Amino acid sequence: MAPSGITFTLDLEHHWYAEDRNRFVAPAIALLAMADRAGARGTVFVLGEVADSHPDLVRKFADAGHEIALHGYHHTPLPKLDVQQMRDDIVRGKAVLESLTGQACVGYRAPYFSLTPASRAVVPVLADLGFSYSSSVLPAASPQFGWPGAPTTPFRWAEGLVELPVPVALFFGRGLPYLGGTYLRVLPTWFTSLGLRRGADQLHWTYTHPYDLDDDEPFTVIPQLGRAQSRLLWIRRRSMMARTERLLGAAPGRPLAERVADELTDVAVVAL
Ligand SMILES: [Zn+2]
Repeated sequence: MAPSGITFTLDLEHHWYAEDRNRFVAPAIALLAMADRAGARGTVFVLGEVADSHPDLVRKFADAGHEIALHGYHHTPLPKLDVQQMRDDIVRGKAVLESLTGQACVGYRAPYFSLTPASRAVVPVLADLGFSYSSSVLPAASPQFGWPGAPTTPFRWAEGLVELPVPVALFFGRGLPYLGGTYLRVLPTWFTSLGLRRGADQLHWTYTHPYDLDDDEPFTVIPQLGRAQSRLLWIRRRSMMARTERLLGAAPGRPLAERVADELTDVAVVAL
């Protein structure tokens, strides 16, 4: 498979650590404007709660030609849910998005990339509900959720849908994401360039949370994280927009659903 460009993806969710439930709106709008400047159409993984509380914001992304996909109704890690709870969450979120946009919602990203061996049971649920792809596996060891040993290139689950794993490349023997979140924001640009070379056979997409772009937010220590990790969540936010814009400016990709339909028709089934 020859990768064609870099797709931007946004996880449209509240700042999970902040009491202000509107704080995420301004950075999301700034990303929308940047995508317009870059001439890029991408995929927005929307939290069902956000679609209910901020329908006009979701419509703005849809009207600009971006794909509206699902990030779950609530932002609950999958391993904390049983199969029925997973299904209820996904059914509810999908219905909210489809009634808002009038379009089929065919993409799903688990909160925290939490599709792991412990939550593998979500895959038949996604297939049954008509999703054509998932973007939920981090194929490396991770402080939160990861699936070391899972393929690092797109693959097909036995149930039929395609998985788009987080692009990771080996650095000092460890698989690290090089196109998103804190990694893209904090690590030097050569790291991203090297990742793109080492992961040349992967499907390339960036991922961003609104807080990654919220460069006006004053620094506070988030009790759950402590000072050092809170700092990591806060620093270099201004650089995130510029970095994403540069990556898209060089090679803007298309929404993930379109790429799955056009570029990934022959990906092989992997038994996991
Ligand atoms: Zn999220």
